Amino acid sequence: MRIVTLSQSSLFIIAVLSHHHNHIPRQATSPSSLPPTTPSSGISAPPPSPATLPPSGSGSLPPGSTPPTRPAPTLSVSLESTNPTARPLSDIIVNASSAPTRALPTTPVPGSKPTGVNGVPGLPDANLLRPADYPPLDRPPPVDSPEVEEWYQQVMNSGISIPDIPPTNPGGCPNNTAAATNASICWWTCSGCTAPTDVSDCPDKMTWGLTYDDGPSLYTPDLLNYLDEQKLKTTFFVVGSRVISFPHILQAEYLADHQIAVHTWSHYPLTTLSTREIIAELGWSKKVIYDTIGVTPNMMRPPFGDIDNRVRAICTAMGLTPVMWTRLSPQVTFNTDDFDIHSGLVTVEEVLGNWKDILSNVSTLDHGFIVLEHDLFQQTVEVATGYILPDALAHKPPFTIEPVISCLRKPLAYAYIESNNNDTNPPPAAGGRPTLSSGAPGSAEATGGSSHSWLPSDSKMNSLLGGSIAALFLAAL
Ligand SMILES: [Zn+2]
Repeated sequence: MRIVTLSQSSLFIIAVLSHHHNHIPRQATSPSSLPPTTPSSGISAPPPSPATLPPSGSGSLPPGSTPPTRPAPTLSVSLESTNPTARPLSDIIVNASSAPTRALPTTPVPGSKPTGVNGVPGLPDANLLRPADYPPLDRPPPVDSPEVEEWYQQVMNSGISIPDIPPTNPGGCPNNTAAATNASICWWTCSGCTAPTDVSDCPDKMTWGLTYDDGPSLYTPDLLNYLDEQKLKTTFFVVGSRVISFPHILQAEYLADHQIAVHTWSHYPLTTLSTREIIAELGWSKKVIYDTIGVTPNMMRPPFGDIDNRVRAICTAMGLTPVMWTRLSPQVTFNTDDFDIHSGLVTVEEVLGNWKDILSNVSTLDHGFIVLEHDLFQQTVEVATGYILPDALAHKPPFTIEPVISCLRKPLAYAYIESNNNDTNPPPAAGGRPTLSSGAPGSAEATGGSSHSWLPSDSKMNSLLGGSIAALFLAAL
């Protein structure tokens, strides 16, 4: 067991340097467990917000006490089962040596269709995708394009009222003290507030709505092969910038009847962005997914779980239902923290400790659950296929493990705008607030109506168009 005595800030700097050496895509380098930093605070990480603390070791703290920023590893993991071909835990570490990746289980063929979804067009030819037709990777897309203007007008005409909530300051909860405690904006990041439109759990006990975020990546085929072998289906929350880099992997996910959902274009914290920028993030993600697999997802997960009522309303107007992960208290969130093995912020033993903490909480729930995991890094896929999934499959009583759309008792076809049934998943009512339950709204164009009253002021629109985005971006590396 590794005892870590460095401060979190020091670790963050090490992680940053390590990322630079490894040429990891930019969006991957912002640790998911840390709020973005501000230019003035330099490169060090601010104190973690309660929402971002891993559940391990912090769930038993008395109310009001300050959890340690770096809980001492106290893991004594006992797993029900592991994968016989798993990489040894001692090799699932920061700066791990590369392991060979497996080929995709099947090669996507243009025109083919997934067997689990009726009424969808054939698969597009991914070789026809031209990166030049899309925004630059891993940064919020420009807002002055004809595409973004069209999506903006659709949102304006959707009938959904967008609350007049200013973008948050970079730096998360410590830099937004008023917003952090403003219950009316329902900012999940700082308060854990969820709205009726959010999906955070599965309704049925012992049911796990399986999700993987931030792909597709080089390591996703390894996960796909394992899921195939175990006859498991999952929900992939994909980043648009990764889709344009690995379109055939997204196609393989889709053809294998996994659920595809939106995780934005550049993986920025959405509450920090202007309304047009949020629309651009979501619109380009929907478009690149549609161009790659021929259907448009109607679920999304906000990067870092960063969502408030403004982001929610934009999502609703764009036909997207937010999906979070289960959160029982500020200290107990169903986040394995697998993302941070890559950077050295946590050890794989701690991640498995988090997983066992999640399992112990699951047994107390009268409903199912959703866990935050990733298919971006070699380490995240190795801990999933080698340890977490084998352990879950051997769990007694057994779990039902399925995509989020399935755990919500809906057919996979309901996960896409083109194939969902608007009788049971109606589009948002004209002029209404977001009122959808876990269903899938139809396209915004279908709703008609208009409401211009929520148009943001110039100052709001411009608040992040100057230097602060670039500064945030650099600081978050
Ligand atoms: Zn993510």
